[in-house]
Order: sequence, then C-alpha cells, then structure tokens
Amino acid sequence: MKILSVFGTRPEAIKMAPLVKSLAGTPGITSAVCVTGQHRSMLQQVLDLFEINADYKLDVMTSDQTLNGLSSRLFAALDPVLDAVKPDRVLVHGDTTTAMVSTLAAFHRRIPIAHVEAGLRTGDLSQPWPEEMNRRVADAMCDLLFAPTASSKMNLASENLAGRIFVTGNTVIDALRLTTERISRDDPLRHRLDQHFSYLRKDRKLLLVTGHRRENFGAGFANICAALAELSRRPDIQIVYPVHLNPNVQEPVLAALSHLPNVHLIEPVDYLLFVWLMQCAHVILTDSGGVQEEAPSLGKPVLVMRNVTERPEAVAAGTVQLVGTDTARIVGAVNRLYDDDSAWYESGHRRNPYGDGLAAQRIVAALTGAIVDEFSVETP
Ligand code: UDP
Repeated sequence: MKILSVFGTRPEAIKMAPLVKSLAGTPGITSAVCVTGQHRSMLQQVLDLFEINADYKLDVMTSDQTLNGLSSRLFAALDPVLDAVKPDRVLVHGDTTTAMVSTLAAFHRRIPIAHVEAGLRTGDLSQPWPEEMNRRVADAMCDLLFAPTASSKMNLASENLAGRIFVTGNTVIDALRLTTERISRDDPLRHRLDQHFSYLRKDRKLLLVTGHRRENFGAGFANICAALAELSRRPDIQIVYPVHLNPNVQEPVLAALSHLPNVHLIEPVDYLLFVWLMQCAHVILTDSGGVQEEAPSLGKPVLVMRNVTERPEAVAAGTVQLVGTDTARIVGAVNRLYDDDSAWYESGHRRNPYGDGLAAQRIVAALTGAIVDEFSVETP
C-alpha cells in the first residue's frame, strides 16, 4: 500500500513526524512525504530534527499571502504530486489550509483519505477564522478518522460522517515523548541546551510565551504585549518569547517589548529547544493548540489566550485555563500562579487526556487493518 502524507506547517510536521517514522518501518507500506511549505523555515526545523526527507517539497508560501491565493497555489501544486505518486491513500493532519486543500484534491481524484487529529470542534462557526471550517471540510471527505480523544470521536459521531473513527490519542504526545527521552538520556545534549539558554537566571521563574492565532491579530496582541510589559516588572520573573515569524505577530511584539529587561524575544526555536524551554517553565502563556496538549505531560500549567478552545479536555482536567486577551485578566492569572504555588494543581498528577505516546502505533494498525487498541485516559 502506497501512502502519501501531506503537511505544511510546523505543528503538523511535529505531529506527523512520529507517524511518518512508523510508516517507514512498516512492512507492506511504501511511504511518501509531500511538504507544502505553508510555513517554510519553521517546517524545515522539524524535518531536520526528526531526520525526515520529504519526497516532494512544494513552495507555496508568499509574503502577505491570502488564504484564497494560498489555496489556489496548493491545488495547482498538489495535483501533479498526486498524479506522480498515485497513492492508495492520502494522510492529512489537523485544521490548516494545507489539510483542507489536500483533502479536497485527493477527494477529486477519488483517493481514500485519512485525517489525523480528526473531530476537534469549538462548536463556533460564527467566527471568520478558518480552522474550524478546515477541519469540518477535511473530516467530511475521509473514510478513516483518527480522533485524538473520546470527545473528538463524539463530535464526529454526532455529525453522522461516513468515515470509520478510531480514538488514537494525539501524535504530539508521541513526538514529545521521543524528544524528552532523547533529552533525558543524553548528558552532553542537556549541557548544550543549558548553554543555549545561559542567559536564564536560576533566581527567576520562567514565563514561556507563544502566540500566533489570527483571532488575536491587532487588539489581541496589543493587549498581550501590555500584559507582558506589566508582568516583566515582577522581581521573580523572566520571560522567554519565541516570536512567530508572521508579520502580524512580529511587528507589534518587537515594537512593544524588545527594549524591556527580563523579556527575551527570540526567533522560533526548533522542537528540541522548545521542549527544553517547556521543561524549564514555571507557567506557559500561549494561544497554541499543540502546547496545550503537550504541557500536561510535563506537569506545567497553561494559560490560554483565547475565549474558546477545541481542546476542552485539558480545561476539564485543570491543566489549562482560558484567560482570553484582556490585559488585566492575563496579568491577574499569571500573578496568581506566581504568588501561590497551591493555586495550580492536581493536573501534574493526572494522566494526560491527549495521549500516551502510542498514537502513531494505533494509526498504523488501523491503516493496515490490524486490531486497534483504542486510547483511553481511564485505562493504564
Ligand atoms: N514549538 C516549537 N518551537 C517554538 C514554538 C512552538 O517547536 O518556538 C512547537 C510546540 O511545542 C508545539 C507546536 O510548535 O508542538 C505548536 O505550534 P503552533 O503554536 O505554531 O501551532 P498550533 O499548535 O496552535 O497549531
């Protein structure tokens, strides 16, 4: 069976890497990889780290791209790849424009499609942000749906979709596990990571920040920056913020924060460095989906700068709190976690609701028709 995996952004690459590795080692499967380059440089960092050689590297990104422009370049670039590979199945991931367009491109050619990280829903279609629609469009056209959690399976089941659904856990936990194991067994690597962040002080607690969502462009990022400026005045804080390359993020963040002591604005770092930063963090402040999923495995509290999430499991488990982008609310939530160690907890002792590191194994089992032992947070 020939399987073509298509992905284009950093988080997709991180989450597909364990699966691409597993597929490459599975007898009877020929695996091909096509990267669309929706986030070119950040994607390459992940491919290098996981030693993945893409068979097809498309170059669809332009500066200031519109979603329609990106979609049309993707359709035009993907069709010849489908023609050349003639896959028996296409694998897509998540909720990006790459996922939505590659699903539709494969569907038009009647190629069966499997969706990894299927079934996430905010339930809110009134917003103009593309992610929710991208996932719905992708899910509707797949015959195999790999839901990370039982509640994402329920979302799919309630939509009466045609695809068969398996609860697999999220492959991001596989990627995280591979990476933390690599860090923990390699003393020289840990020393290098420590040296890389030698500016971090032992007497200050690290607030790790990331942000990239369209819904926060403009007023949202202005408020976030105001909150970080205020928080940077705490004597016990140091802030590290790998700033996303999107100009809608870079410009306001660099203008507002680059002059502040205790605020380290850095380029996006590769996954190994980022996992190390998460391990060092006291609190993580983010609008990222992947970071919300990873942090429970590391026992770190996450404040999410959004008003809705398609990942309710972590909110229910107490590892994630939604704080929106109101300046005073962000400042208040961070201060609380810094001032009172007992303000956060339980979750570090609980099992991660997003996975156990075996998602890729389950997905490969489903793809090859083997019995799938589904992920459940209840069973050991
Ligand atoms: N990440 C990374 N380097 C960074 C910041 C984040 O490798 O400088 C990782 C992070 O661990 C997570 C993923 O990138 O796995 C999240 O990507 P992003 O926040 O861009 O997208 P989302 O998860 O919201 O789709």
